[in-house]
Amino acid sequence: MSAAPVVTRFAPSPTGYLHIGGARTALFNWLYARGRRGHFLLRIEDTDRARSTPEATAAILSGLDWLGLDHDGDVISQFDRAHRHAEIAQQLLAQGAAYKCFAPQEEIAAFREKAKQEGRSTLFQSPWRDASPDTHPDAPFVIRLKTPRDGETVIEDEVQGRVTIRNDQLDDMILLRSDGTPVYMLAVVVDDHDMGVTHVIRGDDHLNNAARQMGIYTAMGWPLPVYAHIPLIHGPDGKKLSKRHGALGVDEYQKLGYPAAGMRNYLARLGWSHGDDEFFTDAQAKEWFDLSGINKAPARLDFKKLEN
Ligand code: GLU
Repeated sequence: MSAAPVVTRFAPSPTGYLHIGGARTALFNWLYARGRRGHFLLRIEDTDRARSTPEATAAILSGLDWLGLDHDGDVISQFDRAHRHAEIAQQLLAQGAAYKCFAPQEEIAAFREKAKQEGRSTLFQSPWRDASPDTHPDAPFVIRLKTPRDGETVIEDEVQGRVTIRNDQLDDMILLRSDGTPVYMLAVVVDDHDMGVTHVIRGDDHLNNAARQMGIYTAMGWPLPVYAHIPLIHGPDGKKLSKRHGALGVDEYQKLGYPAAGMRNYLARLGWSHGDDEFFTDAQAKEWFDLSGINKAPARLDFKKLEN
């Protein structure tokens, strides 16, 4: 019997152009899947309606196209799946893994303020967690996940190693807001599960989210994906890459006439290495790319190398 195929995904939020960090994440996911006869999927995380734009989605798609990072199946819109995310929140509620919290925002804010002043933990513990299920005041509510109070959440990350977070440091996160809309964290888990994603390869700014997302997988009894959180890219000065470092949009390099193959080679080596090999073909990259070759330290962008 052959093992289940590898399924990876790139899940950008369409709030701007495709930047170098995003393109590298996409490339790593593409290489990992393509080198293993797996599938590489594309999901546009457009749930933040105020910040998502069709222009950004178009720029991301055209950047991926230029780089030759072809995806399998249709482009998934996360926003279009909101009903499915809400359905899972309701399922968690029905099975007692989540609860309705009627605590008003002002009450939570006041609690946090007081706790801060008194130097206590500001982690909000809802009084509704253990309330009788038939206590239903006629008031707006959010649905929260019941996070275990004891024990630890352990992320076995292919890049970061074992990361342990005490459960009493995690709050009962909101799954559905009072207007019935799902939160982003729930959407990611439900989509990854439904799309059959086996490997979540993304920036390590999402490492903390993984601990929270794992709570949803566990409550649903869904198998966890393999996690690989890649260190972010830094500029030549060792600081987190940002606009002030210069040209960062993939489209800018395209306009300047850079060859896509050279860009792929360059991006692959941003935080991943294969011995001393500096240049390789796509076939070699697909064959060689592995999560164990991803560096644990942040990659440093060297514009000169890219421009040579
Ligand atoms: N949409 C997120 C971002 O653009 C990525 C989420 C994920 O990969 O799980 O940072």
